[in-house]
Amino acid sequence: MKPYVFSADSHVLEPADLFLEGLPASLKRHAIHGRRDGDYMITGTEDKVIHRLRLGPQREHPMGEHVDRKGLRDLGGRLADMELEGIDAEVCFPTLGLWLYCLDSPEAEAASARLYNDWNNQFLAAHPERFVRCGMLPVLDFSNTLAEIDYLAAKGYRAAMLPAVIPAHLPKYNDVKWDAIFARGAERGMVFVLHTGTGQETVIRERGPGAAIINYTLQSMEAQNSVMYLVAGGVLDRNPGAKVAFIESGASWLVALAERLDEVDEAHAKMVRPKLSRRPSQIIDDQVWASFQHDRACILAADAGLPGARNVMWASDYPHAEGTFPISRKIVDDLFAGFTVSEQTRRDVLGLNAARLFGMAPQAHTKATAAA
Ligand code: MN
Repeated sequence: MKPYVFSADSHVLEPADLFLEGLPASLKRHAIHGRRDGDYMITGTEDKVIHRLRLGPQREHPMGEHVDRKGLRDLGGRLADMELEGIDAEVCFPTLGLWLYCLDSPEAEAASARLYNDWNNQFLAAHPERFVRCGMLPVLDFSNTLAEIDYLAAKGYRAAMLPAVIPAHLPKYNDVKWDAIFARGAERGMVFVLHTGTGQETVIRERGPGAAIINYTLQSMEAQNSVMYLVAGGVLDRNPGAKVAFIESGASWLVALAERLDEVDEAHAKMVRPKLSRRPSQIIDDQVWASFQHDRACILAADAGLPGARNVMWASDYPHAEGTFPISRKIVDDLFAGFTVSEQTRRDVLGLNAARLFGMAPQAHTKATAAA
């Protein structure tokens, strides 16, 4: 029987003028928007180029023909693509909004987050069994963060984004100043989601030999750093109801990190401040989730019951070129090739861990095989 498949990483595409049209005149110069420049898509504000992406080809369908992604802006097309892919439900992240944390005006950041949240709520509201809405939280002024958590909770949101990397000048994730945010998240049942790349001015840190591999791999290391800070600094320990999910940074490293943190916590116990009430690996198993597309070691670790592997989730990263569209059904099968793992482990990794995190009923919405 086909397991329930949940993609823990997918993206919606905002209207191109969401921020340009929506921000008041006084904040207009902070409007995040994209513009085409030859083979590149430039994302930025009036006076800032944030990101340059060379537009690349997507994966070919195994049958050879080119398959267009139908769900970039059209929800009907998105549901059709989910059927093709065998994906029953997904959590949706922004595209332009991923660059929210590059803004330097707290007013523009808060207003942009609100514009995105209101649009997202409207766009996805009709299919709560298929789409987890994920809001955006401003962070330049923590009173705005708290207000937006409350706003989203009142609209029934269960997930909201925080930056995966702490932008310069903000308190680091081991700072007690974050406690108020994590306490409020726990109180409102809001999962904090940290998508790879968010919070960085640029993901390009190396231009020399190996730059492409180095820059993309560094993003998974940034996620490890943020988990380490959140656990070691005690923010998660002091707020045991808070949950965080690291998206598109891989997941297998969480196992090694959990054991490393335990090792240090024990071996250097005399120097550990603050004292944690639980082992670091227990904090991770209780409160940290991570999504992966391809790294398979976490599947074996989950099956063996190793700490750090309790909450790993598969994801497609639809509709991105580096995602698994249009061959997600094959990729999901191939993940387990050569492995002897329990059916329970397969179901947990493919959908049940995510369903548990986001409070979704794990019901099948797609057919067992792709339509011919
Ligand atoms: Mn993604």
